[in-house]
Amino acid sequence: MKIGCCFGIPRAETLKLTKKLLLGIIIAIYHERSLFMLKKILSGEACAKCRLCCIFDRYDVWETPVFTAELCEKIKAARPDTQFVTKDGGYIFRVGELRGDELFSCPALTENGCMLGDEKPFDCRIWPYRIMEVGGRRAITFASICDELYHRPLSQLVDFLKEGLADKIFAYADQHPEIVKPYYEGYPVLMFERKPL
Ligand code: SF4
Repeated sequence: MKIGCCFGIPRAETLKLTKKLLLGIIIAIYHERSLFMLKKILSGEACAKCRLCCIFDRYDVWETPVFTAELCEKIKAARPDTQFVTKDGGYIFRVGELRGDELFSCPALTENGCMLGDEKPFDCRIWPYRIMEVGGRRAITFASICDELYHRPLSQLVDFLKEGLADKIFAYADQHPEIVKPYYEGYPVLMFERKPL
């Protein structure tokens, strides 16, 4: 006997669907909060003035962000000349060889900042935190060229990670291993993942 139904769906099923939906909403809020935590330490105004992480020279061109197919389409719609190459399931810019002081400015960078807004790639949303493979383990490192955070004690940067951001970064990397970069010398390691790769 059916206890009750909604649009022909048995009540037990409706409850299951509602629970699933609520769980999805909670995860989405957790996801957003974790990422927006960076705004506690890095103001939008400071980033808008700097833009250092959106312009690359021949030494840090390996740092260009990894994009999803959807974001590639958005950028190409606005900047049709932009070229991408695949990287482990994601996409990075085809930059070519940079000589001397030549710079590569991210095609998504506009006079008003990043054209992608809050949809910018994960790499950019967690900047200046980085996820790298260090001796066979994933670790969260720190790009100390970020002038805004350079003067903060490393312990403070680690504390921010412990507030949920580290879990979020490792979980995202589980789904998108293409964002994990090989270790680059000089980047302080802030936190190792507990489980090995
Ligand atoms: S995608 Fe946006 S935030 Fe990321 S490097 Fe390009 S302009 Fe900067």
